[in-house]
Amino acid sequence: MIEISHLNKTYHHQQEKVVALGDINLTVKNGEICSIIGPSGCGKTTLLYILSGIIHEYEGTVRIDGLSPEQHIGKLGLILQDYGLLPWKTVWQNVALGLEIRKTNKKQITEKIDDVLNQVGLYELRNHYPSQISGGQRQRVAIARAISMDAKVLLMDEPFSALDAITREEIQEAFLELWYKTQMTVVLVTHSIEEAVFLGNKIQILSSLPGKIIYDISNPHQGNIHLRSHPDFLKMCTEIRRRLRSV
Ligand code: ADP
Ligand code: MG
Repeated sequence: MIEISHLNKTYHHQQEKVVALGDINLTVKNGEICSIIGPSGCGKTTLLYILSGIIHEYEGTVRIDGLSPEQHIGKLGLILQDYGLLPWKTVWQNVALGLEIRKTNKKQITEKIDDVLNQVGLYELRNHYPSQISGGQRQRVAIARAISMDAKVLLMDEPFSALDAITREEIQEAFLELWYKTQMTVVLVTHSIEEAVFLGNKIQILSSLPGKIIYDISNPHQGNIHLRSHPDFLKMCTEIRRRLRSV
């Protein structure tokens, strides 16, 4: 479980102070997807960096299963906008990176990576380089890496934003299926209202600086692959759009 209480983050840049996050309180239960949506520059990436242990100077408490994020380093999956793939390594090698850093033995790595590539439907493309596959496939390579490391928590920063609308919807559906299988806890930062509602068990709206949670909506229909055609989907999207316009 992720528990954030009274989280404040101020950046000091020369003489200037930027209060990026102002009193964030948030709980994400194990196995839940929490969507975070808010205007550009409101502290979303900062929040993910804090959760992933990259930024450790902040006020307040952040706990993941009772431990601080730094105590989880190497076990949390972080997927950034550019997916973090190395262009000179193949799909297979890119997925294996996480386990290699952990110094897992070669035979175990091979078995695990083959298995995960099959799960995400990339086994046939294992010898391709990132430049030879589509945006959606690159996205799956990044997810495959997180799965191969048995990451219980996946932190994603606008991971689908570079994709065209239809690919994006297909990837969201594929992601939902993977999430069902792995039961990972996910924090998903997105700009897209539809994506936040389609994937999130709960949706948090952040205000502009300093980022505060100004609206917390739970989504009883989450997990329904046909949610987009449900009347409540439109209702939720409209409500979120209204709230975002007023921040
Ligand atoms: P978002 O991801 O929502 O667009 P960020 O978390 O990247 O927002 O940034 C939040 C605010 O903090 C922005 O105003 C940004 O300029 C500022 N900021 C981010 N990183 C730094 C930094 N390293 N030093 C100073 N200010 C920063
Ligand atoms: Mg950002």
